[in-house]
Amino acid sequence: MSTTVIRTDEAAQGRKPKTDGVDFDAICIGAGFAGLAVLHHLGTLGLSVRVFDRASDVGGTWAWNRYPGAATDSESYYYCLTFSKELLQEWKWTKRYPGREETQNYLRFIADRCDMWPNIQLNTEIVEARYLADRACWQVDTAGGESFTCKYFISGMGMISEPVIPKINGMKDFKGPLFHSSRWPQQHLDYAGKRVGIIGAGATTVQMLPVVAETAASVTVFQRTPNYVLPAMQQDMTPEWDRSIKQNYDDIVAKCRKHVFGMAFDSPVGRNAVDTPAEERQRIFEEKWTGSFRWVFETFDDLLSSPEANRMAADFIGAKMRERVKDPVLAEKLTPSFDDYPLFAKRPPLDHGYLEAFNRDNVQLVDIKNAEPLVEIIETGVRTTKGDYDFDIIVLATGFKAYTGALEAFPIRGSSGQTLQEKWRAQSESIMGVCVSDFPNMFVITGPQAPFANLPTSIEQNVIWITRCIDKMEREGFDVFEPRREAEQAWSAQTADIHGQTLMAQGDKVNSWMMGANREDKPARVLIYFGGAGLYYDTLDKSADGGFPELEFKRRGD
Ligand code: NAP
Repeated sequence: MSTTVIRTDEAAQGRKPKTDGVDFDAICIGAGFAGLAVLHHLGTLGLSVRVFDRASDVGGTWAWNRYPGAATDSESYYYCLTFSKELLQEWKWTKRYPGREETQNYLRFIADRCDMWPNIQLNTEIVEARYLADRACWQVDTAGGESFTCKYFISGMGMISEPVIPKINGMKDFKGPLFHSSRWPQQHLDYAGKRVGIIGAGATTVQMLPVVAETAASVTVFQRTPNYVLPAMQQDMTPEWDRSIKQNYDDIVAKCRKHVFGMAFDSPVGRNAVDTPAEERQRIFEEKWTGSFRWVFETFDDLLSSPEANRMAADFIGAKMRERVKDPVLAEKLTPSFDDYPLFAKRPPLDHGYLEAFNRDNVQLVDIKNAEPLVEIIETGVRTTKGDYDFDIIVLATGFKAYTGALEAFPIRGSSGQTLQEKWRAQSESIMGVCVSDFPNMFVITGPQAPFANLPTSIEQNVIWITRCIDKMEREGFDVFEPRREAEQAWSAQTADIHGQTLMAQGDKVNSWMMGANREDKPARVLIYFGGAGLYYDTLDKSADGGFPELEFKRRGD
């Protein structure tokens, strides 16, 4: 491997901030994809940037989610940062879906090759951030008692990072390890030969179960709502495949930039399921059943917009799922139908042997919605209305406070002193998911009302917009930008309008995190811009090309 350092950020280490009186030009919280993209892009402007993370390494999601089987659901070769063609050519993925370690290694590789480490401060938790209006800067405080100031404050904390810890009586009483899936112990946890209980049956459990079941004495999954489980169809990267990816990277990146979910898919395909004769439709569904979310986008264009087409897709997936579970009663419990909820009203998981795992003697499903509701956790395990289940380990695979959770987990105070949590009590509004009114000089990467898409694509597009905005500020000598309230209202209204026209709006019936309907502390709300990621990226570009009309630029003393 080449040892050349890609220095877009010449001599960033020890660089003085351009702005007088602050410690850094920009501070970003989060050393995952977002933090590294910020370091690269703001580095090109010659700014001093510090990235903080409470984890002990870079990786973000991939530093925390250490549960067995954790892997990406996007295909590797477009789950990456694209700012350097050289690095795209250099890094070698080993699989279609890399495991969490491989993705974390990839991010370490980016940090190494771009000489980012001096600007990353790990093991540092930020406990408060506040805008100091009189100084036109932000102050962030760490748990260790340090304070730092910066002109631009950026959240790269991730949109699925703050866990939902359910309120189940007795959790403190359990005598063994009990933890949320995203806080799987960093030190070795030996579950071989142990009885493991998993509460929740979402994307995390779908990945975790088949791996844990291989060596655990038993695994019991407590399921409320079944999922539309799509096949992952893992593959090793072959030299030929790797070569063809590398020859076509420009096309791959361009496809992601245009696609409704930021993925390198060939869609739209120009045909609808409802207009296709049944036999031909079945043939296309079968032919495209080759793994990943591709199936949803590369079969027909109307699966997520037409209820009739969505029902056809749901029926097809349901039949495929039932084929793989030997016990027909169990298969029925594991399989949702359109009448329960449409495909994508909850984010469907990708399967690496989840359904087959239920054919093992040491795996069982407990239907806590219809058959035996969960009552409490006791010293020895889990109690339902029908009896007690004994465990050595309990995993809460109960999901995340998506989009706003990390931003509300500690006080982030804007110009009026109000926190984001207070501001978002009624509705979590933003401008394009990147700025929030009353929070000057603050950027949020993939915040509420951004699209839900292949995250590295969205992150990079957000960071490019942020970089262009900061470039304008610095070149034109502005001290402050104020996000305009009317722009926020307009974006929120547009987002709500589009949301209301989609089948995803039915997610509130089934606790979908995509609407925050999985939270006990807040009502469901519109959290995602469903107008299409490609269109959203165009909107960001148009905003930057037009001089950021959503923001008011000011000089101190204006
Ligand atoms: P999730 O999809 O929100 O699933 C949470 C599960 O916990 C659901 O089955 C839910 O049941 C259950 N649950 C929540 N509270 C409960 C309670 N009090 N009692 C019993 N059950 C409860 O969470 P997740 O599986 O962690 O996945 C969340 C998202 O993270 C995914 O959709 C995905 O976007 C991301 N993720 C990505 C990957 C990847 O890309 N490789 C892997 C894992 C996760 P109900 O459905 O009935 O509410």
